[in-house]
Amino acid sequence: MRGSASVQDSILDAIGHTPMVRLPRGFDPQVRCEILLKCEFTNPGGSVKDRIALYMVREAERKGLLKPGGRIVECSSGNTGFGLCMVAAALGYRITIVIPDKMSREKIGALRALGGDVVVTPANVTVDHPQHYTQVAGRIARETGGWWPNQYHNPDNAWAHYYSTAPEIWEQVGGEMDAFVCGVGTGGTFTGIARYLKEQDPAVRCVGVDPPGSILYEYWKSGRIPEAQPYAVEGVGMEEVPGAWDKGLVDEFHVVEDSESFALARRLAATTGVFGGGSSGFALAGALRSARGLPADARVVVLLPDYGKAYLSKTFSEDWLRDRRFLPPTPAATATVADLVRDRERAHVSPNDLLSGAVLQIGERGVRPLPVVAPDGGLLGVLDEDAALRRLAAGEDLARLPVREHVVPAPPVLEPGAPWTAALAALGAREAVLVRHADGGFVPLDRRDLLQSLRRLSHR
Ligand code: PMP
Repeated sequence: MRGSASVQDSILDAIGHTPMVRLPRGFDPQVRCEILLKCEFTNPGGSVKDRIALYMVREAERKGLLKPGGRIVECSSGNTGFGLCMVAAALGYRITIVIPDKMSREKIGALRALGGDVVVTPANVTVDHPQHYTQVAGRIARETGGWWPNQYHNPDNAWAHYYSTAPEIWEQVGGEMDAFVCGVGTGGTFTGIARYLKEQDPAVRCVGVDPPGSILYEYWKSGRIPEAQPYAVEGVGMEEVPGAWDKGLVDEFHVVEDSESFALARRLAATTGVFGGGSSGFALAGALRSARGLPADARVVVLLPDYGKAYLSKTFSEDWLRDRRFLPPTPAATATVADLVRDRERAHVSPNDLLSGAVLQIGERGVRPLPVVAPDGGLLGVLDEDAALRRLAAGEDLARLPVREHVVPAPPVLEPGAPWTAALAALGAREAVLVRHADGGFVPLDRRDLLQSLRRLSHR
């Protein structure tokens, strides 16, 4: 084998050594000091959790808890589950991930792509129920002789950061920094890094960030454990006190609302190109608050845990944000037809395309009715779904049939600038109408779209 210093033997060698990027001055006019972003989303699995996955596995091997060819069992739908599947695949372990059924298909698909066995359990059961995902994970671990990393209470979660993330940060800042800011979930990231930094320089302020509804801030402040309330930012905050967290290391704790977390994650991506998830906006919000009182020569480091692409249908979807009132609703008085189809899937076929491709567009992207558009952009009609159905039922090969022979007249076409009430009137008893997009394309609008989008208008 030829040698090369820059070739790595395993994807696991690519974990860590993440960049630190300066937030442009003026991002927050009230902040005068330097803010440095520790970009953990450049890890190969897309998050800071690759580090703990590798470290916890290596420690379990060292302690004899995990033998060659053995099984790892964990309950995490998020970044830790993904990181563990990546590590298991690279090192030849079998792995079972137990997750509640509210998780997205994309997340389950990612775990399976890495060779994980995924067990889906009901989300709406109490912690002590035998079907709760932690109970199921414990049972599978016992029955298979598997090893359960249990990141919430595993001290190696924090040690992973003490030995990798923290020394990297210290080296990147040349031993000069005034504050470190990080969201707290299991508390492993915060605890490992804060412990190391304070050993280097006890004057470094370690700042935690918590969502409202989590118990951690109140527990830190008063020792009392309040009742947890729901919140939307993912990966941070807790319903019970995690054993991996040392609250004694927290010098300052900020509570950041979901709306602010999402707005900042979006502005960071759109104005700097740094594309973190919702909990990156959340941590940055905490950092900005902490930095507002600091002089111009101070330096604050904030950790951005994961990559924004995992949240395209949430943090980065205007409709999702509007549905949860994280963005103001569109006033009904000025709303147009275009506002009703803003995030709607689009597709069209040309008359010379094959019927097989057209049916695929309907199946995969749910575009119905499917516009048939001439090469000059003119609308010829929509796909005749009944005819396609009859062909399929007769066993015909749709890859031999052109769309041209399966076109029916299009429903009414609405102009995008028309008032939204035009859509209501045009839909009437019809199944769907089309909206002409500003760029000349056509977007279907049906009753379901109307139900979704009218909720987003405000009538006050
Ligand atoms: N952000 C995201 C997206 C996460 O998945 C996690 C891990 N739960 C965190 C932040 C918080 O990290 P930790 O668990 O180490 O406190």
